[in-house]
Amino acid sequence: MIILAENRNVSVLRKEQSHGNFKQLNKEDKKMPLVTSKQMLTDAQKGGYAVGAFNAENMEMVKAIIRAAEELKAPVMIQTTPSTVKYASLEMFVAMVAAEARNASVPVCLHLDHGSSFELAVRAVKEGYTSVMIDGSKLPFEENIDVSARVVSVAHPNGIPVEAELGKVGGKEDDLVAVADTNTDPMEAKEFVEKTGIDSLAVAIGTAHGFYVGTPVLDKERLSEIRKVVDIPLVLHGASGLSKEDVMDCVKRGICKVNFATELRKAYTDAGKALLEAKPETFDPKKLGEVGMVAVTELVKNRMQVCGCDGKAI
Ligand SMILES: [Zn+2]
Repeated sequence: MIILAENRNVSVLRKEQSHGNFKQLNKEDKKMPLVTSKQMLTDAQKGGYAVGAFNAENMEMVKAIIRAAEELKAPVMIQTTPSTVKYASLEMFVAMVAAEARNASVPVCLHLDHGSSFELAVRAVKEGYTSVMIDGSKLPFEENIDVSARVVSVAHPNGIPVEAELGKVGGKEDDLVAVADTNTDPMEAKEFVEKTGIDSLAVAIGTAHGFYVGTPVLDKERLSEIRKVVDIPLVLHGASGLSKEDVMDCVKRGICKVNFATELRKAYTDAGKALLEAKPETFDPKKLGEVGMVAVTELVKNRMQVCGCDGKAI
């Protein structure tokens, strides 16, 4: 069992808890550290809704996502892919998201999306991410089990939950391109969950990363079959561009976390482009950031309502 150097955010929590001898802070004075996805997703599963997980690429998107969560009183997951981590560093995202979370009135979790290796997942836990995904879905079944179980063996003793993926979500996620669309097999999912000890499972049921060219055909029956044999929270990837009805139906059938990435990036950049077209003299990055944040906040609020997590922050 490997216990990593104490997770910074957990230490913040312990520090606050150990201040019993000092003047008690008023509830509104207390700063909230990052929380893990464990309770968040268990609550969603019990409550029949899904937590929205939103990919952030910069400080503005972090602020915009948390602003939406506060306005709707929703628990929220902010996540970063390996390419975003490469661009900004794990440390930078932990610092930014923890700083915003401490001043937020809702629970915020920082999640590694599509962790591409055991090493990256472990580094994320060490740096203070409060949830990690290991994506071994492109590996043969046994190797996927092996790498997912190894991440669990390091993350769990440190109090961090793990998401893994079985089956292949189509399209392009980050720099990785799925070879073929292969939906998750329910019996394999059962075995996978039992052998790995993971906390949540990303399933492939016909969704794809990126934008859809045609109308996606989702295998919702398969989702219901997986739900019958797997009791941990299920995760839906590739939700950008799915209809509201499809997402809501998937949530009803057992999805507890829905990932939104591509459309947030587009909303952010489109807002900046529109500003530059209307006011080509703009040169202050803050002006671009401001319009981008407004666009992302609006979009995130809409998606949270579709997931049904609005009003669920306690
Ligand atoms: Zn994904």
